[in-house]
Amino acid sequence: MALLTKAPRGTADILPGDSYKIRYIENSLAEIAGNFGFREIRTPVFEHTELFNRSVGETTDVVQKEMYTFEDNGQRSITLRPEGTAGVARAFLEHGLFNEPMPQKYFYHTSCYRYEKPQAGRLREFHQFGVECMGTQSPAADAEIIALARQVFDFFELDDISLEINSIGCPRCRKDYHAALLSYFEGKKDQLCETCQSRLYRNPMRILDCKSPVCSAIAKDAPVVLDFLCEECSDHFKAVQKHLDAMDIDYTINPRIVRGLDYYTKTVFEFVSTAIGAQGTVCGGGRYDGLIEQLGGNALPASGFGMGIERLLLLLNAQHKELPEEPRVQLYIAPATQDFTVEAMRIINELREEGVSALTDLENRSIKAQMKYANKKNVMFTMILGPDEIESRKATVKNMDNGETAEISLDTFSEDFMHVTINAALADLDLGAGDIDLNNLTLLTGGKE
Ligand code: ATP
Ligand code: MG
Repeated sequence: MALLTKAPRGTADILPGDSYKIRYIENSLAEIAGNFGFREIRTPVFEHTELFNRSVGETTDVVQKEMYTFEDNGQRSITLRPEGTAGVARAFLEHGLFNEPMPQKYFYHTSCYRYEKPQAGRLREFHQFGVECMGTQSPAADAEIIALARQVFDFFELDDISLEINSIGCPRCRKDYHAALLSYFEGKKDQLCETCQSRLYRNPMRILDCKSPVCSAIAKDAPVVLDFLCEECSDHFKAVQKHLDAMDIDYTINPRIVRGLDYYTKTVFEFVSTAIGAQGTVCGGGRYDGLIEQLGGNALPASGFGMGIERLLLLLNAQHKELPEEPRVQLYIAPATQDFTVEAMRIINELREEGVSALTDLENRSIKAQMKYANKKNVMFTMILGPDEIESRKATVKNMDNGETAEISLDTFSEDFMHVTINAALADLDLGAGDIDLNNLTLLTGGKE
């Protein structure tokens, strides 16, 4: 039975309250991305397996060990997306978006799936916010997405997130680099893990990204790609830095960053925090000029990043950053007996049409039980609806925070209730009714701050 009441390892439910915070984060990220000219794109949760083999790369950990791959009933090999870029690149080609004016800028919120060892900041289903800027090889584009990620961290007032950048060159300069890596690792081949032994000749750079302690210890002294950059890549990297300097974005050059996916070229970067344990990389990205061509399109440069939402949340918690709480329910109407639920429902339905959040009893409970429920729900106002109220067409709403009451008419309820809530809000702000112009709802502070 445990299988029925326990979610699969490495997944997490997001319950109300938390989901409100996540929605706030997502909306904020969408808005920031919008300011940079990125528009939302949504692609399927699953794709043909071949897409990831081709883009992420056959020799990467993701493809070799981490993908959720299965055959569907039509005998097609299908994979749950392990990252967001491949699907966007596929959609870009499928819909001929390369015919649009360049650059094309997209952002996405996606769930991703990787069969990894679950731990803090590492899940099997996790969520990414990502951006892709297609169709420009300009170093300004690399700097722009880095600036976007930086603005996200600044927006949430997060401290101590350092930016590390590197360039891993283009296929031209990488040829020499691969040769250098090969001769370095060949002598130590027997000590490498099995996976790295098998990818030594196909893609030696992947060894630099291996998580096994022995391989990473060996990789520490390996030649670094920065020493092998061709002139074009070197100039490009310098230009990215010039933009970052001009925008006052701090960074360090970390020649050890190679990123875990094969499609990267030139700029790669990571935003890293020491506040959330071993899984400190909150955002990783860079340039991938070969990807579109690799997927069968005409050569088209691109750059982008993926930001882990769970890690962003860990950081927000670690640094005690408050996110907005869910708005409170404004009114609870308690019918004295079941006879009055019809009128209660009529009123709250009207209120909800006006955009007011309101609840009433669906359970035929006693007034006492209803008040307990309303309290637990932390509603702002309550109102009892009994025979006297129905007869006089008047009822009393009670402010649950300060006990103040106000009488309002059942026949002009929405409007009367709006005045009650506005007056309560003004009292909270220490303002009087004369300080607000109800016609255009502009708050006139009358000199009070
Ligand atoms: P790591 O080195 O931590 O495994 P990665 O290089 O595999 O990260 P990317 O493929 O670049 O990560 O994904 C971009 C971002 O997505 C990461 O920086 C991280 O914030 C987040 N991320 C990656 N894998 C996971 C995971 N299994 N669980 C939660 N977040 C993840
Ligand atoms: Mg990984």
